[in-house]
Amino acid sequence: MEKAREMTDFHELAGKCLRCGLCTIVCPVHQVEADEYTAARGRNLLASRVGGRRDFDKEFRKRFEKCLICGSCLDQCPQGISIDLLTLGVREQMVREKGLGLAKRAIFRYIMRDRERFGKVLRLAYRLQRYLPAGEGKIRHLPSFLSALGAGRRIPEIAPVFLRDRVTVVSSPPPGVETRIRVGLFMGCSIDYIFPEIGRKMIRFLNRHGVEVVTPMEQGCCSLPVIGAGDLKTGRAMAERNARAFKDLDLIVTGCATCGSALKDYGTFFGRGEDSGEMFLRFAHKIRDFSEFLIRDLDLQPEAFASGGRKWNDLKTTYHDPCHLRRYQGIAEEPRTVIGSVPGVELIEMEGCDECCGMGGSFGLSYYDISKKIADKKAAAVKETGADAVVTTCPGCRMQIIDTLGRNEMKQQVLHIADLLEP
Ligand code: SF4
Ligand code: SF4
Repeated sequence: MEKAREMTDFHELAGKCLRCGLCTIVCPVHQVEADEYTAARGRNLLASRVGGRRDFDKEFRKRFEKCLICGSCLDQCPQGISIDLLTLGVREQMVREKGLGLAKRAIFRYIMRDRERFGKVLRLAYRLQRYLPAGEGKIRHLPSFLSALGAGRRIPEIAPVFLRDRVTVVSSPPPGVETRIRVGLFMGCSIDYIFPEIGRKMIRFLNRHGVEVVTPMEQGCCSLPVIGAGDLKTGRAMAERNARAFKDLDLIVTGCATCGSALKDYGTFFGRGEDSGEMFLRFAHKIRDFSEFLIRDLDLQPEAFASGGRKWNDLKTTYHDPCHLRRYQGIAEEPRTVIGSVPGVELIEMEGCDECCGMGGSFGLSYYDISKKIADKKAAAVKETGADAVVTTCPGCRMQIIDTLGRNEMKQQVLHIADLLEP
């Protein structure tokens, strides 16, 4: 089965670098913190010199943490270096040589790897979150005791009822609608635990268009936070669980760009060597982003989007391209086609629509100061359009944009594409 990329020895990748500096020009982190070693060029030099355990000191670790894995540099590199995989390769060796910190080890290996336990911890967190300082509406401020660097961040509340507790395993089209196709739904942690209404809207819309949706409850986290931290061993165990959960389904749809990218990359991360490599490649080929599925697989025409229960009256929107959708999955037109087809909705492009919002998973918490500065550029671009709402297809970007608009005292709504389609 065809595989575009694979994990390669990072020394080999770093050795290809010409030091031309094209990657530094587009790197959002480097634009905020103009240290040579926060962009790929400088890090490649560090990576090429790495020999053993002693080289992974605190400074080295920080430099390799300060990458959003946004992929902005990938298209620029004349050598075609997979800078994201190089960074992950270095992080993996750091974990092998020095281990994970206690907190990450407990979270990744004890909590996130076990879906039932993860759910229990979040239910407890839901009960405790009432003690966090309240913000506007369903937003809380993450106080300093949760993250010294992320202090003041607005985070949406954990949902009182998770998606998995609100849907049946099989959701069939309503009476009178013929079943055209059966797909699996990959929920992802953000939609399952924080934004379950996105999942419900996706299911409703799909059902109305003849899609039977199967939501296997054995599925877990896509494992990208774990892989991103360099713990590929735990990531692989989590990936195996997902591949098994969906083994009887031919297509799997997700409303999270980050999960979609991670799932499509299982073959890249784990497709080499061992027996299960073929299983990961097969699984990766089944994955579809929600907008990709609607336009490419279902071939929905503009009139299909007029039949939704949600009516809009001259809603001006602008669209933020998640890095994990546009760069890693090559999907930019499909969400725009969906947005542009919804009656009463206008799409106004913003400057830098494809520039990273600065979230980058745990980067947004660990390096909140840098993350805020990157996100503020996004807020200014949104303001410039005069739009009433920002639409995106990634719950992580949505959280980041909610935070940055709040800090900039902007009142625009931040919507997932499914919000445009269903009430
Ligand atoms: S992936 Fe993004 S943050 Fe990382 S080096 Fe490339 S441009 Fe910079
Ligand atoms: S663009 Fe590629 S070759 Fe040029 S400095 Fe960056 S990583 Fe090296």
